[in-house]
Amino acid sequence: MSKISIDKDCCKGCFICLTVCPKGIFKKTKKRNKYGTTMPEAVNTDECVQCRMCERMCPDGAINVEGGDNNEN
Ligand code: SF4
Ligand code: SF4
Repeated sequence: MSKISIDKDCCKGCFICLTVCPKGIFKKTKKRNKYGTTMPEAVNTDECVQCRMCERMCPDGAINVEGGDNNEN
């Protein structure tokens, strides 16, 4: 099982994570960070295959994936 963290102060709400995740883990929410940015959240994390595309593609390095055999943390 994966633990997917999003650093709310780094996220700029581009939602690239929604497009790159092959399992549709990220969903838009109405939550905002202190800068007023609309945040995604990770749901159904049991479905995560630890491909780490979200970590690689997030332009702000806001995502951290823990868990799985290829854990590099
Ligand atoms: S890709 Fe990164 S910066 Fe963009 S919405 Fe997702 S977590 Fe936020
Ligand atoms: S590691 Fe892969 S499957 Fe898991 S949330 Fe990120 S992009 Fe989706």
